[in-house]
Amino acid sequence: MSVYKKSHMTYNEKRHNHHFRKTHMEQFDFITNLLGIKDPNITILDFVDAGTHKEVIAKLDYPAPKCHNCHGQMAKYDLQKESKIPYLECAGYKTLIRLRKRRFRCQDCGKMAVAETSLVKKKHQIPAIVNHKIAQKLIEKASMTAIAECLAVSTSTVIRKLKEFQFKTDLTWLPTNMSWDEYSFKKGKMSFIAQDFDSQNILAILDGRTQATIRNHFLHYSRQVRNRVSVITMDMFSPYYDIAKKLFPNDKIVLDRFHIVQHMSRAMNRLHIQVMNQFDRKSYEYKAFKRYWKLIQQDSRKLNDKRFYRPTLTNKEILEKLLSYSQELREHYELYQLLLFHFQEKQAENFFDIIEELLPSVNPIFHTIFKTFLKDKNKIINALELPYSNAKLEATNNLIKVIKCNAFGFRNFENFKLRILIALNIKKERTKLGAH
Ligand SMILES: [Zn+2]
Repeated sequence: MSVYKKSHMTYNEKRHNHHFRKTHMEQFDFITNLLGIKDPNITILDFVDAGTHKEVIAKLDYPAPKCHNCHGQMAKYDLQKESKIPYLECAGYKTLIRLRKRRFRCQDCGKMAVAETSLVKKKHQIPAIVNHKIAQKLIEKASMTAIAECLAVSTSTVIRKLKEFQFKTDLTWLPTNMSWDEYSFKKGKMSFIAQDFDSQNILAILDGRTQATIRNHFLHYSRQVRNRVSVITMDMFSPYYDIAKKLFPNDKIVLDRFHIVQHMSRAMNRLHIQVMNQFDRKSYEYKAFKRYWKLIQQDSRKLNDKRFYRPTLTNKEILEKLLSYSQELREHYELYQLLLFHFQEKQAENFFDIIEELLPSVNPIFHTIFKTFLKDKNKIINALELPYSNAKLEATNNLIKVIKCNAFGFRNFENFKLRILIALNIKKERTKLGAH
């Protein structure tokens, strides 16, 4: 509220404003600050509690500028009919700004113009600050419908913002360590994802996961660039071994440790269920198996002596009781724990000795997985020799799961892809967004 501006007010406006200053000025100044409205040409005239939402009545006015058409002097004309601008929530309430903008008329050529403000970009309906907020929320993991709901804009506004993020593929560079994975972005639709193992940045998200799709994508990189890649980490049972070998001649394929452990714990879980189902559904044993499944899954070294589940027994004691119900379960549990131990301690030789020795006598569930382990022996040994942690990839997996859970809006692959790119590639560059 500059002094300069006041000198251009009409008599009535001055009188009105005088009254205003005395009674409400401080309050409205406060609201202006609270709302983060930076444009000094916007004056808040009133603040209305409309029950379900709040309304801010404001006007946009400043001295008449020069005419864009003939460069003659314009003069103030009238105030335009109010435009409704959905604003950020204020103290938990949706807030609407009813803004009346000054119109100007050229004294020479008669052209009309409307006052402009940084609050809402020209020809935009959405305030810049709301746009910024949408961008910020897209980076966080909120769902698109939740963002639309929370900022009182339409879902299509959120999608439009999503599309403003652009990601260029840098064809002159590939990381030394890549990880490949696949995700279903909606039922029955798989997509292929390649990541920089170290930074976790996404290198490619492809619509589909056929050999041809992957080959066509990576053939955009020169052979020289592709030769940089020395390790590709992927899940076992992967159909990608051959194509990876062809595209990346220097590459060593490594099975990702997270998935190896996951395959073991899934086998243990299936066996647990098999054993559980041998008991009557109403029996004490069945209920105990059902209730304490986690104790069997867990790395035995992490079991503690705290009396957490029940006041009378520790986790170790409960586990011992469960194992006493079934000899088969006990044997496989011990085997599973032993394999976990050697795997985590990176003792590849011990790990495979046990597998080879017990292959003929284990339950079919374990038999199948042991055969796969043996088939991919070299790739598993690679995994044990590389100094990578699983935590990173696990984080990505979880993130993609969260995005998928939130993905009400993703009928469209491009949007799914953008969302993941934003979440994984932009996070670290958050500050750059301010310019948007
Ligand atoms: Zn003019």
